[in-house]
Amino acid sequence: MEAQLKNDLVNVFKSKLSSQMLLNLDTCSRCGLCTEACHAYASIPLVKYAPAYRAEVVRRIYKRSFTAQGKFAPVMGEAKEITDAALMELKEAAFSCTGCRRCMVYCPFGIDTQQIMSIAKLLLVAAQAEPETLSMLADMSVSKGENIDAFKEGFLSGIKRLEDQMIQTWRDEAGEDPIPTDVVGADLLYVALAGAHSIIPSARIFNAAGEKWSLSFFEAVNFGAFVGDPTKTKLILDRIVNEAKRLRVKEVCICECGTAVRVAKQLKGAPFKVVSLTEVHARYIRQGRIRLKKLPGSYTYHDPCQIARNGGVYDEPRYILSHLVNDFREMSPDPKYNWCCGGGGGLVAMGDETLDFRMQSAKVKADQVRGSGADVVVTACENCHTQLSDLNKHYGLGKEVRFLSSLVADALLPEPQEARG
Ligand code: SF4
Ligand code: SF4
Repeated sequence: MEAQLKNDLVNVFKSKLSSQMLLNLDTCSRCGLCTEACHAYASIPLVKYAPAYRAEVVRRIYKRSFTAQGKFAPVMGEAKEITDAALMELKEAAFSCTGCRRCMVYCPFGIDTQQIMSIAKLLLVAAQAEPETLSMLADMSVSKGENIDAFKEGFLSGIKRLEDQMIQTWRDEAGEDPIPTDVVGADLLYVALAGAHSIIPSARIFNAAGEKWSLSFFEAVNFGAFVGDPTKTKLILDRIVNEAKRLRVKEVCICECGTAVRVAKQLKGAPFKVVSLTEVHARYIRQGRIRLKKLPGSYTYHDPCQIARNGGVYDEPRYILSHLVNDFREMSPDPKYNWCCGGGGGLVAMGDETLDFRMQSAKVKADQVRGSGADVVVTACENCHTQLSDLNKHYGLGKEVRFLSSLVADALLPEPQEARG
């Protein structure tokens, strides 16, 4: 590695050394309480998958560049220079971590391995050694924001096809404008994912609730966050922020995409509120704006780490499910300690490249789902849905995997006649 690049990478590392990060880097007592907490280690017991080991890969570089002992007696402190080999180690550590933060719940000091891995990802981006697939997907999202006029026509004709589908299926309830776009003064901007499954059920529910809404031109998923590039993360999020400001909406509702929800909720000082689709659906039920019938069968719920453990949304999905089903079976261990599905942190977005690792490292998740005894496993995140579907196939679990929003749409009862006026 050239001296200039090495120097640049040390400076990039330095830019991440907030007081919180210093605590994460300086505090580990190597007690090992986090080891079994990581689904990857619990499923594949190799030391490289232990949270404290992953952190140590970053910590050694920190010691070498920023501590006196590391600078003057590197062998004693196990300090390491940034080299090409060190970058490969960082890549393995960071992209086998889903950022689920289960280890943090078990750590007596609350050390945040996901935060430490954000340094690894940033160094990889600066050295142009990040996973190519994620980087390419992030660039495409940024480019869409810069050239929206070139994408608009194709997007709108795609929406027109979905509207035709809605009108054919739900002639009476589809209304005149089943999927509104570009509505200045709408109350809510819905940011979906590409694909009918993320748009049609939500459109049905918004329309049934009488919401004054508008569908965003942009998809929610933030590949910049997956790859760990803060500049691209911001550019991708800014597309939505600017649209929300232009339309003067009161609320931005992010679809079932855990990372997109987490990134958008971190926004500070925006003139609108950010909510997840699950929170909006729970509100509609609470306010009597939608009515649901009970669905047959037994159900369990997988909490997406970014929405539940990292976002605090535990009660709303269970509240919705209490209106949807009679037979709900909580998984064990309980939600705070829920096993990660094993697909976050960009692993699902990397597709077949990560499939073997995802299946092996999430064996504990497959066991947890099987142990619930439910027929249907419900979730509220696209990544989790894909990963759970892959696990279902790989481990022959025999479950049905469903999005919470699509269950709500299936269970919608028509408005009473008197409410229609
Ligand atoms: S954040 Fe999750 S995946 Fe990463 S080390 Fe901790 S438990 Fe493992
Ligand atoms: S639980 Fe915390 S202090 Fe103990 S080894 Fe893990 S990160 Fe270090």
